[in-house]
Amino acid sequence: MARAAVSGGLKVRRTWRPAVVLERRRETPSASTLSLDVPGWTGHLAGQHVDIRLTAPDGYQAARSYSLAAPEDGDRIEITVQAVPDGEVSTYLVGDAQSGDSVEVRGPVGGWFVWRPESSGPVLLVAGGSGVVPLMAMIRSRDRVSHAPFRLIYSVREPKDRIYDHELRRRAAEDGGLDVTFVYTRAAPDGETRPVGRISLDDLVSHSWPAEVEPTCYVCGPTGFVEAVADLLIFMGHDPTKIKTERFGPSGP
Ligand SMILES: Cc1cc2nc3c(=O)[nH]c(=O)nc-3n(C[C@H](O)[C@H](O)[C@H](O)COP(=O)(O)OP(=O)(O)OC[C@H]3O[C@@H](n4cnc5c(N)ncnc54)[C@H](O)[C@@H]3O)c2cc1C
Repeated sequence: MARAAVSGGLKVRRTWRPAVVLERRRETPSASTLSLDVPGWTGHLAGQHVDIRLTAPDGYQAARSYSLAAPEDGDRIEITVQAVPDGEVSTYLVGDAQSGDSVEVRGPVGGWFVWRPESSGPVLLVAGGSGVVPLMAMIRSRDRVSHAPFRLIYSVREPKDRIYDHELRRRAAEDGGLDVTFVYTRAAPDGETRPVGRISLDDLVSHSWPAEVEPTCYVCGPTGFVEAVADLLIFMGHDPTKIKTERFGPSGP
């Protein structure tokens, strides 16, 4: 039986379980979503992550953390992986994993960086690169059960790097409770008036909630991005206890 611990009131699975790749689909030239079948999966909350372990034919093993990209759906979970240049695990998952491949999964992990479907308060989501993955799980979960107003500010290098591009645009067009703003750091699409550059105070003031609205803020991405955005939110007057952060630094043993 799997060992379980409690983190933030949630059960966290500590043992490895066998899983099978059901499907891999491209999201961008450098990112893919993988659906996995994990027999006996007991559910998760948006914002939690799993550890994925790969074993080579010679017994060599490598494990990395990946956020859950979609709400719970029986034994099926989804992750979205952005390839890191020369990355051991991410390049395999993005480009080589095939349906039927065996992997191992540990989790769900995490009890703080989660959004609970019963929440109704306003939510600000700020993503850098693949940091959009757990925030997308929150957007998809909200769609099922809650009318909490959400605003997403999503920073990418250039248009081709927008993960979930079509789905985000469709959801924002169909749902008055969801605002989506893209911020480009290196190259912007035709017609974009904002100069390219890192996310700034102006971006947050223009597209997030004012501090008086007291949103819960979720910030996810590379460490430098997360720290810069959290500092800006505090400068804007947001309550630090309502700013939840997840840093996508290197993971593994
Ligand atoms: C809680 C958590 C959740 C995560 N969720 C996701 C997710 O949903 N999607 C996703 O794509 N990634 C996610 N990551 C990052 C992921 O765990 C791996 O670190 C990443 O895929 C690189 O692994 P690798 O084996 O390919 O690279 P490695 O072989 O471990 O490293 C190759 C080189 O890249 C550098 N590097 C490693 N990781 C990163 C990184 N994240 N950013 C920049 N440089 C890096 C290393 O220092 C090294 O120089 C998450 C990390 C954490 C801690």
